[in-house]
Amino acid sequence: MTGQDAQAANPFAAGCAWIDGQYLPVAEARIPILDTGFVRSDLSYDVVAVWEGRFFRLDDHLDRLFAGCRRIRLTPPLTQAEIREILIGTVRRSGLREAYVEAIVTRGVPEPGVRDPRRLTPRVYAYAIPYVWIVPSEQQPRGTDVVITRGTRRIPPTAVDPTVKNFHWGDLTRGLFEAYDRGAALPILPGEDGLITEGPGFNVFALIDGVLRTPGHGVLEGITRRTVIEIAGQDGLPVAVGDLPADDLYRAAELFLTSTAGGVMPVATLDGQPVGDGRPGPVAMKIRDRYWELHRDPRYTLEVDYGEAG
Ligand code: PLP
Repeated sequence: MTGQDAQAANPFAAGCAWIDGQYLPVAEARIPILDTGFVRSDLSYDVVAVWEGRFFRLDDHLDRLFAGCRRIRLTPPLTQAEIREILIGTVRRSGLREAYVEAIVTRGVPEPGVRDPRRLTPRVYAYAIPYVWIVPSEQQPRGTDVVITRGTRRIPPTAVDPTVKNFHWGDLTRGLFEAYDRGAALPILPGEDGLITEGPGFNVFALIDGVLRTPGHGVLEGITRRTVIEIAGQDGLPVAVGDLPADDLYRAAELFLTSTAGGVMPVATLDGQPVGDGRPGPVAMKIRDRYWELHRDPRYTLEVDYGEAG
């Protein structure tokens, strides 16, 4: 059998999930309806990419997951090494060379009548599905269209800690609808203080007066964001991590979004107006190239052994 035939015959080709110690095709994966991850968003999770058969910064993602769990007083029932093996197991079985790989730790399923989160036993779920693009790869060289939301503010960090990767997406989803209503593809949300935060699944960077700026608080500290800051540092590009007022964004020469789901995604228009000359700028495109190059670098990646499965 060729690799392609084997993949066509693979029941996990559309994705592989891990639940309760078992690997199963993602379409068959079910969660218990009373899990507080589902009914209370009481969880943390992380998403890591596999590109050309290699995990990108897997241990950094797992470190963030475990740090997030500690912040919400959630003790994963498995070790970091065990969850790492499960994630590798989902990818290996799926045979996917480009994958979006998620691990979720929930507070768990309460006994009847129990509402005290301390009395629950946490649970782990995991899956690998084909890679997800927030901005389609073929569109990235043209750039995407974003708005700064007017009717939606980011949930304040004093209510939901955005450094703990979470499913409290009410504001982000509302922002998406506002973006569609205004003819754009994606929203960037300001916080209550008017400072730029982030958007649904991505961080924000702006090149303003020769400095690459990104919000310093009120955001998830993205692994892609970290990678971009490192690349900029290596290139001698000044980076400022701190307050980013919405007004400053309108005078950016370049604007781009970063996420594990799509990488470094240039922005063409902001609130219907061109950013720079309305095309992705040279700084964004160079960082984007470097970002993808790193996906082949053994210092940042872990090669998946697909064995018989692939
Ligand atoms: N901000 C939010 C709200 C996210 O959900 C994500 C996740 O994808 C990001 C930013 C980007 O983080 P990362 O680069 O680690 O994928």
